[in-house]
Amino acid sequence: MEFPIFVKFVVKIFNTKPHGEIKMRKKVIAGNWKMNLNLQESISLISGIKNGLGTLSSNVEVIVCPPYTSLETASTLVKNSAIKLGAQNMYFEESGAYTGEISALMLRSVGCEYVILGHSERRTIFGETNSTINKKIHKALGSGLLPIFCLGETLDEREKEITFDVIKRQVVEGLKNVDAENMKKIIVAYEPVWAIGTGKVASKEQAEEVHAFIRKELTALYSSEVAEQIIIQYGGSVKPDNAAELLSQPNIDGALVGGACLKVDSFLGIIKAC
Ligand code: PEP
Repeated sequence: MEFPIFVKFVVKIFNTKPHGEIKMRKKVIAGNWKMNLNLQESISLISGIKNGLGTLSSNVEVIVCPPYTSLETASTLVKNSAIKLGAQNMYFEESGAYTGEISALMLRSVGCEYVILGHSERRTIFGETNSTINKKIHKALGSGLLPIFCLGETLDEREKEITFDVIKRQVVEGLKNVDAENMKKIIVAYEPVWAIGTGKVASKEQAEEVHAFIRKELTALYSSEVAEQIIIQYGGSVKPDNAAELLSQPNIDGALVGGACLKVDSFLGIIKAC
């Protein structure tokens, strides 16, 4: 069936299918501080972001993910601001003899709304598998935390041209038994491992191609109605000078930022690119 030109225009603007619900996805910029910044440094970074943020469009969301040691203080600082708080990891058990681990409820108790799960550094340095990450996703959702579910291929996998196989396996196994209602609470972050912390950013075409593939896989697993609502962030050497180009792609709904989120000006520069 042929749609009138103005319908096509509205559909293009809102990036939905003609038969789907018309709803614009917001842009979500999250800062992954990794193992950086002590408490005093955390206070000054959050204060700087808060002061420079101004009035944030309702279409943009900002999340900071400091180390555990700064979460409680960060939670107080971001109260009554547009900034949301996330953690960088958690364990899938509720409590017990798991020395060094942190539970989802502990994160909730200090004011976290989000948790990054499956970051490539967790996968490669700490041996996390798709199955471990799946357990963490279920625990986070069951505890009221919103997962930022990271996935991405290594350089070797890209060169072997198995990027889409790897991504598909990460999506299917990482989201195993997650129902559609819970899926809508998850942010997916596509982070090609070869672009993380390397200064080698994926081109907008490379990133968009994988984002579109992830959305297609989510459509197959759930429905186009669900898939069209999911925020899919790009991560990997995002900086103020490349953010606008990446964020202008139809399937790129935000950024997960590492290095550039540790300085007020560069993090604000990325947010302003939205
Ligand atoms: C990250 O660690 O999630 C990340 C994207 O890092 P960077 O921006 O430094 O590449």
